[in-house]
Amino acid sequence: MNPYILGLQCTMCQQIFDPKQIKTTCPICGDAGILDVLYDYEAIKKDLNLHSLSSNQDRTMFRYQQLLPVEDKHIDKMLKIGWTPLYRTNRLHHALSIKQLYIKDDGQNPSGSLKDRASAIAVLRAIEENNPIIACSSTGNAASSLAASAARMGLKTYIFVPKRAPVGKLAQLQIYGAHVIMVDGDYKDTYNLSKKAIDHHGWYNRNAAINPYLVEGKKTVALEIAEQLHFQLTDWVVVSVGDGCTIAGVYKGFYDLKKLGLIQAIPKLLGVQSEGCNPLVKAFHTHSPCQWTEENTLADSISVGVPRNPIKALRAIEASHGSMVDVSDQSILDAMRLMGKYEGIFGEPAAAAALAGLQKAIKQQIIKPNESMVIINTGNGLKDPQNAQRATKEPILMKPDLDILIAHIEQEGEHKHE
Ligand SMILES: *Cc1c(COP(=O)(O)O)cnc(C)c1O
Ligand SMILES: [Zn+2]
Repeated sequence: MNPYILGLQCTMCQQIFDPKQIKTTCPICGDAGILDVLYDYEAIKKDLNLHSLSSNQDRTMFRYQQLLPVEDKHIDKMLKIGWTPLYRTNRLHHALSIKQLYIKDDGQNPSGSLKDRASAIAVLRAIEENNPIIACSSTGNAASSLAASAARMGLKTYIFVPKRAPVGKLAQLQIYGAHVIMVDGDYKDTYNLSKKAIDHHGWYNRNAAINPYLVEGKKTVALEIAEQLHFQLTDWVVVSVGDGCTIAGVYKGFYDLKKLGLIQAIPKLLGVQSEGCNPLVKAFHTHSPCQWTEENTLADSISVGVPRNPIKALRAIEASHGSMVDVSDQSILDAMRLMGKYEGIFGEPAAAAALAGLQKAIKQQIIKPNESMVIINTGNGLKDPQNAQRATKEPILMKPDLDILIAHIEQEGEHKHE
């Protein structure tokens, strides 16, 4: 374990535990007692600072190893996860009439999503704990990312997916050699079966919320955004929300940087869910505990009726003075098209939901057009080609004839105003 870690603190009862004695959640509060990793920031400062970063050659998430709950022993063998591009938009901000917009393209990770950051930590922790088998339940990306990193490092994986998982993500699992258990039920059923199986077999548990270390992996996206912006952060960071671990991780990354004195303030976080599955949006706006909802959205990665990390997620948004919105499936499809058409970035529905949420937040004047913002493209659109096709018009089929083609192009020109 990383020697800078001071302990694990329960988000419910605030007690601090020794990481050596705890596998997942708080022994007093049970499954709701999600733990948070505490670091010795004063000691880390000596090792991780502007000077050390400027000479750090590691262009992966492990350039921040001092802030990660793993030893450095196996890092050099891992897939190259993280240090994904942060683009300042070239055209999209004009289309949206806003001033300054960035896209952090985490679809560029090895398995195509931000989840690679968490799975990398799971795999390294399993190796440190001498557990050769890892399991998780996932709507897709946690699974495919785990299967990829585990394959690379020689661990066996049992992966529980709901039967609605998109074809690209399933194909990844199969190619990475995972043992796939497809559950005839929704994500909640899938999660519950995986939990029972993990308890029964003693497999390493990569279920993001209850494993305190995975948020630590996800936070590297925030560390990178900050460093790529030379620690001059935007007013807002926008990210879609399912279980809530990603947004909790984004907050934790900025929190660490503030503790290290590298940034002055944490950006406001905008959490985005789908209208068809919005338990955290409801909880946030009614200031009440998170209630179970239906899972009724095409954005599979955020179709989470029972979020497993509501406390950390809602605290992150509140502590950052941020907000939450929910968006329609149609606006998600529109946002997929916008991001592709104006920036050449192809996001899966759950990723494009962030852009749809940004548009809604501007309309609702939660975000002002003169504020600056980063949206995180959390997953690659190639994972879900079916919804990409739903978002767009089918190409026309024509005879291989130049005259027909010319007539078509002229006609198209007349109809096109954009
Ligand atoms: C998992 C995921 C999210 C949401 O992350 P949570 O930790 O579940 O809130 C968003 N987008 C994509 C592409 C994801 O895979
Ligand atoms: Zn507790």
